[in-house]
Amino acid sequence: VLSCQNVRKVFGDHVVLDDLTLDVAEHEVVALIGASGSGKSTLLRCVNLLAEIDDGTIHLDGEEITDPRADPDLVRQKIGLVFQSYNLFPHMTVLDNITLAPVRVHKRPAAEARDQAVQWLERVGLAGKADAYPDRLSGGQQQRVAIVRALVNSPRLLLLDEVTSALDPELVGEVLTMIRDLKGEGMTMVLATHEMGFAKQVADRVAFLEAGRVLEQGPPSQVLGDPVEARTRQFLSRII
Ligand code: ATP
Ligand code: MG
Repeated sequence: VLSCQNVRKVFGDHVVLDDLTLDVAEHEVVALIGASGSGKSTLLRCVNLLAEIDDGTIHLDGEEITDPRADPDLVRQKIGLVFQSYNLFPHMTVLDNITLAPVRVHKRPAAEARDQAVQWLERVGLAGKADAYPDRLSGGQQQRVAIVRALVNSPRLLLLDEVTSALDPELVGEVLTMIRDLKGEGMTMVLATHEMGFAKQVADRVAFLEAGRVLEQGPPSQVLGDPVEARTRQFLSRII
């Protein structure tokens, strides 16, 4: 589904992504781990074309999305991105938050977008919240709405950046359950996380980033349990 080849991203003279190569297969869930500043968020932002890469290519379903002629709106319709802070519009209802982009940006028929939004809300147990404003929802519910907002375009790929780290511990579970359900439905996902337990539970593969490169990748049991690289071991020993 996704192929990042030799991706380079610099901010000034700071190389943030350095010849990074990462492939993600259909239905695969890949967890990005690594120290703060290793480039996880930057990679997700580059894949979603929120940041422009300086070298290399990114392909989605065989099409080069980093081609300057690619339409960013179209690409973002196919690639959903959810951040740590859910960024719902406070003055809009849950339903309007979800349908805003599909209708305004992607010119989808409003009725169709609403139907799909309502279906998704039902599936994630938020059917009664369609007309509520975000401040009446718990953090976990808001984050689930933010994920639903990314899902109404039926994306090929879902990018999740620390989606549980702003949540109170007791609310993390409901978001994890939702992500696990999505995995069960075959959604292809790339998620950045500091929670190794989460990576272990949902990821098919874990990629350890260091200084903008994938230093090591493999099944969670191997990368988290018996890493090959000394740097990976060092990172894991520091966070556990
Ligand atoms: P964390 O685990 O803290 O979320 P991360 O792995 O997501 O870290 P990034 O946010 O991708 O790391 O940042 C990688 C590096 O790029 C950092 O050194 C950061 O300071 C730098 N960086 C990110 N965005 C910008 C920007 N817009 N301008 C300049 N530097 C940036
Ligand atoms: Mg980050």
